[in-house]
Formats: sequence, C-alpha cells, structure tokens
Amino acid sequence: PPPGTPDIEIARAARPRPILALAEDRLGLPAEALIPHGHTKAKVTLDHIAGLRARTRGKLVLVTAITPTPAGEGKTTTTVGLGDGLNRIGHHAAVCLREPSLGPCFGMKGGAAGGGRAQVIPMEDINLHFTGDFHAIGAAHNLLAALIDNHLHWGNAQDIDLRRVSWRRVMDMNDRALRTITLGLGGAAHGVPREGGFDITVASEVMAILCLATDLADLERRLGDIVIGQRRDRTPVFARDLGAAGAMAVLLKDALAPNLVQSLEANPAFIHGGPFANIAHGCNSVMATDTALRLADVVVTEAGFGADLGAEKFLHIKCRQSGLRPHAAVVVATVRALKMHGGVAKGDLGTPDADAVRRGGVNLRRHVTNLQRFGLAPVVAVNRFTGDADAELDAVRALCDDLGVPMALASHWAEGSHGSAELARLVAERLDGPAPEVRFLYDEATPLADKIRAVATQLYGAADIALDPAAARRLAEIADLGYGHLPVCIAKTQYSFSSDPAAKGAPVGHVLPVREVRLAAGAGFVVAVCGDIMTMPGLPRDPAALHIGLDAGGEIVGLT
Ligand code: ADP
Ligand code: MG
Repeated sequence: PPPGTPDIEIARAARPRPILALAEDRLGLPAEALIPHGHTKAKVTLDHIAGLRARTRGKLVLVTAITPTPAGEGKTTTTVGLGDGLNRIGHHAAVCLREPSLGPCFGMKGGAAGGGRAQVIPMEDINLHFTGDFHAIGAAHNLLAALIDNHLHWGNAQDIDLRRVSWRRVMDMNDRALRTITLGLGGAAHGVPREGGFDITVASEVMAILCLATDLADLERRLGDIVIGQRRDRTPVFARDLGAAGAMAVLLKDALAPNLVQSLEANPAFIHGGPFANIAHGCNSVMATDTALRLADVVVTEAGFGADLGAEKFLHIKCRQSGLRPHAAVVVATVRALKMHGGVAKGDLGTPDADAVRRGGVNLRRHVTNLQRFGLAPVVAVNRFTGDADAELDAVRALCDDLGVPMALASHWAEGSHGSAELARLVAERLDGPAPEVRFLYDEATPLADKIRAVATQLYGAADIALDPAAARRLAEIADLGYGHLPVCIAKTQYSFSSDPAAKGAPVGHVLPVREVRLAAGAGFVVAVCGDIMTMPGLPRDPAALHIGLDAGGEIVGLT
C-alpha cells in the first residue's frame, strides 16, 4: 500500500496465515491445544497451558514510554514492530498486548492494534468484539451487581449499608449519562432504591483480576475476595459472602484462556485482557505473558501510559505478584512529545524545533533514570514520524548520548521490521547480557502511605504527598483489615509526572494530593486516586462513530 494508506486498509490487504498452522509451526502448539475462533484467532486451552509450566521461560522485554501527548506515542506500534524486528534478525519472538476497549473505538482514541506496517490482525475483530472476553468480564461483573441488589430486595440478611455499596455496574461503551444513576425505582416489586452508576468495562476489578490470575482456582479465589461494600457496622462485605464467586468464575472460564493472533508479518501475538492503567495496573494478562514465555525465546510486552504509571505498575504489581521479571526495557520517545515537553503548543507540534526537543529532553531523562532505579538498563526507541526533521532526530541522539543510553531510530510504522531491525539488535544485545537485578522501590512491610510516598518522591519528583483526612482514615482501616501488605496502584493523569496534566517536562517539588483510597482486595492492590480520574469516559462532540460504517461490500470503513 502507498504511504498514507489508513491502518484498516493496510491490515485488510494482508493475507493472514491460518492460525492453527501458525501456532503449530511457530510455537509448536498442536491443534488440540487451541480453540479456534474463526480462521485467524484462537484461544490456547487452559489444560495445555497447565502442561507448559515445567518449561523454562524465555526472556521478557518491557516496552514503555515517555509522558505522552493525547495521540499516544506508539508503544503498541513499537511493541509489534520490535517483535517483528527480533524475528527478522533471527530470534524466536512473540508479543503480548492488551485487548483494546470497544467504547473508545467510537470516541476519539480509535483502535489499539498498532499502526502502519506494525499491526496485529485481524484488526477489526481485535478492536471490536474479538473473542468475547470483555463481554464475559462485563457479564461477570454485572452478575455480582445483580446479586447485590437481589440480596437487598430479599431482606438484606448481610445487613449491607445501602449507602456504602462500592460495587457499580460496567459496560464497554463511552456513555457519560450512566455515570450516576438511581436504581430500584418503580415500587416495592422493583428492588430497593439506591444510588448507583456505570464504569467502562476496562475499569472493572474483574478485569484486573482476570489479568493477574494464574489459573481458574486463583481466579475464583480472587473473585470471592472482592469487597463490594460495608455492613452497617462498617465491616467489609465480600463477593463470597453473597455466594457470587462460583457463578462469576463460570462466566469467565473461557475468557481466562489467552488469545493468539498474528502480526502483519505473520509472527505470533498474544492479546489478552486490558485493564486501565490508572485505577488498575494497565498490563495484559499474566496468563498470556507466562504462556508466551514458555513458547517463545523472547516476549515483548507493553505497559499502558508513560513509564511513571505503566512501567511502575508492571513492576510493582504484575511482576511482584507473578514472579515475572523483565530482562530488558525499551522507552518509546517521539519528537512531537519531546517538543510538547519543551513548551511547544499542541497546534505547533508539526513545526520543526530542535531546541524544543532539547528542552523537552528532561522528560526522557526522568523516565530513564526512573527505570534505572528499578535496576533496569533501558534502550530508547525513537518512533519516527514522517515529519520529523533531521536536526530534531540529531537532538534526540545527542540527548541519549549524554544520558549514556543506547538509542535507535525506529521506522517500523512506515517500513515494518526493516525499520525496526536496528532497535531489535540493541535489545538483543541487552538480552545477551546478564539478567538485571530488578529492585522494587518499597517492600510489602512498608506502610501504605509510605508506599505512595515512595513512588511520588522517587519517580514523580514530588516533595511529598497530601492525604485527604478521609483517605488517611481509609488507609488505616485497610491496614487494620489486614491488607497493609498490598502494593499501591496510583491513579493519576498520564499527561504529567505530577497530578496536574499541564505540568510538562520533569516537574519537581510538587505535592501529590491523594483524594480517595479504594481497596481492590481481589486484584490485590490498594488504589490511591490522585486528581480527577474518569472511570466512565464520554464521547466527543464529533465521535468516530459518526464516520464508521459498512460499504456496499459489507466491509467496515472509518475504523482507525
Ligand atoms: P500507544 O500504545 O502508546 O498508545 P499506539 O501504538 O497505539 O500508541 O499509537 C497511537 C496512534 O499513533 C496509532 O493510531 C498509530 O497508528 C499512530 N502511530 C504510531 N506510530 C506512528 C508513526 N511513527 N507515524 C504515524 N503514526 C503513528
Ligand atoms: Mg497501546
């Protein structure tokens, strides 16, 4: 396809290999290890995965990024491009990605299956219903919600405080009108009136649980551990108290099996689970990453948002819980994001400005030194855009030389694996070296407030945190209930190291305000909400949905 061809047309022009053949000759998976969903998607069975656990794992590469612009800096695209690049230079690599959320496809963000010549296919399916995992997660989540309101209707034997039910409903659509609603209107036959609301499915704790569970038994145990609210004596009510875990696990048993698809270059790609990277940990499932590592020598995976959020949670939550450890890390940077951090206004990011790139380098520097604190030795991938000027790219190279980190200009978006081969070689050099000694910034025994403080001061450049009195009380309650050992999951804006999205670059001396604290006992973390965090997005004035449709041949047009 010529330059400028939309992602969906590039994806559709590709001739995907039958997934069963690809699974067999690229990963050694026999047909009976797979549950095909059509010809180009399949789930790996849980039985087969259980049989792989004795194998040694391959090496894991984390792809993260500098603080992004609203358009995204290309982590998914670079993950796919790097996977293809590693295969091109002779490694046996697979990639692991999050499943895109359906709602945002019809809003502003568009799909999330990579871009240009670095995509996973079938792109339309991956971006829309895929293998039904998100629908299953929504169903399991809403089953618990229905059981709660049913319990209230039939006499409330648990003495649940109506005003303290924290379990909401979810659906996979951007629909701001459902953020706060009234339930149970219409009289005594129609339930107990109370306030409720909807979040988007990716914000569900069930999503985070599915992504951290290691098998069906672990999944069911975690579902039972969900805290849905409090009794009038303020004790927690668990999903298991309502008898919900078994039926929820039934709805999720197929969804727990990871999905296998392929890149445009016919390399294996696991796409499974997709929790938010603010109120949840923002990584694809442990099941997918672990399975991929048993089947390939190298696995490249992405963590959401910038490294302050995604990489931190990947390490402190996913790696800590699962025992997985990255052998290498890649920080994706773009000229346009560096210019934004150098003070250039959004409308002027297309104009070459090497000085602004140099000024914005403070953001890259902070992310690099942050990853070094974890014991990682990152490689910088400059995701090239066609408008990048040579002087701007030279400025990034000089910055990286100054930081002492290897960097590669990567043009997989325009050229596929030919454009990511240099990046792949740099990463392969890291993989040939000894595994890094990954360090966490706090240990289990650290008090919860100090865990938040450790991340804020060591990674965000904050002087301190400011706990709302109610948040401080809640932290104490959570510790008293026996959850003080859990890691924290900080929900803050992805557009700044601070809680102020306008503070670009590498702000210092700010104070991180902790407004609210939530216990995600099933997922196994404590969420600290800092600033305004939206768990049910809205649609923009001119949503993408208005430009999406079917052509005369029944093909989708307008999906980006
Ligand atoms: P992230 O995973 O960091 O959010 P994505 O990889 O999804 O970012 O990329 C965001 C958007 O930018 C996608 O629509 C993708 O097609 C586009 N994109 C990524 N890299 C490039 C590039 N080098 N040139 C042009 N567009 C790109
Ligand atoms: Mg992405």
